[in-house]
Amino acid sequence: MHSKPLSKIDLGFLPTPVARLSNLDSILGGPEIYIKRDDLTGLAFGGNKTRKLEFLLQDALTRGCDSIITAGAAQSNHCRQTAAATARLQMECHLVLGGEAPQLANGNLLLDKLLGCRIHWAGDHRKGEDIPRVAEQLQASGKNPYIVPYGGSNELGAYAFVHALEELERQLDMRQFTHLVFASSSGGTQAGLMLGKALCGGQYRLLGIGIDKGETGDVPFERFIVELANSTSDLVDANASFSQQDLILDTRYVGDGYGVVGELETEAISLLARHEGILLDPVYTGRAMGGLIDMIRRGELGAADRVLFWHTGGTPSLFAYADSFQTCASP
Ligand SMILES: *Cc1c(COP(=O)(O)O)cnc(C)c1O
Repeated sequence: MHSKPLSKIDLGFLPTPVARLSNLDSILGGPEIYIKRDDLTGLAFGGNKTRKLEFLLQDALTRGCDSIITAGAAQSNHCRQTAAATARLQMECHLVLGGEAPQLANGNLLLDKLLGCRIHWAGDHRKGEDIPRVAEQLQASGKNPYIVPYGGSNELGAYAFVHALEELERQLDMRQFTHLVFASSSGGTQAGLMLGKALCGGQYRLLGIGIDKGETGDVPFERFIVELANSTSDLVDANASFSQQDLILDTRYVGDGYGVVGELETEAISLLARHEGILLDPVYTGRAMGGLIDMIRRGELGAADRVLFWHTGGTPSLFAYADSFQTCASP
């Protein structure tokens, strides 16, 4: 299967490294675990959105836009990486963030401010509901804004993960792997990996760990991902077609919802920190790794398996979740 390549700007230090987590392997006594370090893409502390922004902001430049609008939660990693990318391109950046201005900006929000973007507080609307209002204001003042959707999850953003999987295939022989595990939240990463796997002829299970109870717009999240994988395939003439059966989204670990940190996350974060010297984040990768550890303990994955865990970034929000770790004692 072939696809038409799309052009991008360079924002990240790619390829990101791959490493074996041998200490974690021996503690868990299950499969061999490898990690893809997209926390090291390098764009203001890195993360998976760097990849999406390479394609999205290329499109903004091609269209001659002079400003960027995007949206997310107050601790959005996507918004922080967008802020850094726009600083690099010297474009005006507007972030539409859920919640209200806190007294002290910490974690990603502190970085958003340092990176020089304008913040529009949107209360309950953390998924970009208020983007059109901000776009109208900018247009009225003579600007030509480009809208990057919530999480960067449209066809261009998803395509970045077709590209990412091709990068991974040059680093590892994925035929030796039984599972690729990652955090799935706005769907672009999963849709792109689905298409990339089909294009590379992958046989492993592509296992998305659901992070958010919510839905994207009116469409159920599972359907949104499958439709995005199909429309991304159409965009690059890949001739692939997906249905619900091609999607694995494990929603057992959403707990009390998006951004609510519990023992699953703090335990996984501590384990990786103490035994591998690798930091995960409380919202996404801590939950996804917590899910993987739980599946290994339950025997759903065993010594005959080999797992690639995709570290999608997010570490700056650790500082905004300091409260969640005060009870985690040092040995
Ligand atoms: C956005 C994000 C994800 C999820 O990627 P989606 O494409 O939105 O599903 C995972 N991990 C981190 C750290 C993120 O910021």
